Amino acid sequence: MQSRRPVVLITGGSRGIGAAVAQLAAARGYDVAITFRSEREAAEQIVERCRAAGANAVTCQGDVAVEGDVARLFDEVEAVLGPISHVVNNAGITGKSAKLAEASVEAIRSCIDVNVLGALWVAREAARRLPGSPGDIARSIVNISSVAASLGSPNEYVWYAASKGAIDSLTVGLSKELAPQGVRVNAVSPGMTKTDIHERSTQDAGRLERLRPHIPLNRIGEPEEIAEAVLFLMSDAASYITGANIPVSGGR
Ligand code: NAP
Repeated sequence: MQSRRPVVLITGGSRGIGAAVAQLAAARGYDVAITFRSEREAAEQIVERCRAAGANAVTCQGDVAVEGDVARLFDEVEAVLGPISHVVNNAGITGKSAKLAEASVEAIRSCIDVNVLGALWVAREAARRLPGSPGDIARSIVNISSVAASLGSPNEYVWYAASKGAIDSLTVGLSKELAPQGVRVNAVSPGMTKTDIHERSTQDAGRLERLRPHIPLNRIGEPEEIAEAVLFLMSDAASYITGANIPVSGGR
């Protein structure tokens, strides 16, 4: 019997995939911390839903691209919820879509800052803390990559695809580093999923519908379908799985 509830920290939990992971985790018996960068109200709403499902839940503001923010986020969460047992490294952006030749320095730099450096700061902090968390509860990290890492996102955001390639390498390497301490590290690679990220990257409102026929299952994914894979990897049902990367992409 577990004596306490597992605690999951989800970066970028105010919207989209992170918000879906938070709510499913709350429903499955986790205490939940979600971080956000700017949308406090959205984050508070998600935390209220987690509490309604019976979880202890908190929001914390911070930019994952800022190294000092990341350590503070972990401190704030542990002060309220206790030792963190799981981390979902989810916060991510694309930048405005363009061919690489026309991409702005700002789009590329901010994407790499958030998706690569941010994910590394979060993974590093998790690697410092999770091995020391009480071993009566399973501990794991789930990195949110993308099928873009293998598809390359030509004509849209090649730099974003490259940032997710880095997440795949991080997952493999860190899984081997932390395995001896009993901390599993895996990734989920979503395909096209219905979230705000698309509208923020392009003014093209019809883009998702136009891309739909290229998805073998012929539909856009729901954030809840990504969350199911994340919760599986966090669970004891995945106790012998580390270094894995599950595509949840409708076959793309
Ligand atoms: P989203 O709906 O745009 O939500 C992004 C979340 O990340 C928000 O909570 C946002 O916080 C947070 N965030 C962004 N930049 C941040 C920063 N610098 N520091 C802290 N938090 C930050 O995106 P999503 O579609 O759910 O994407 C989540 C993850 O899935 C990303 O890693 C993305 O690359 C990956 N993914 C998405 C798709 C897809 O089709 N949606 C496909 C493949 C992979 P605020 O609310 O405060 O802005």
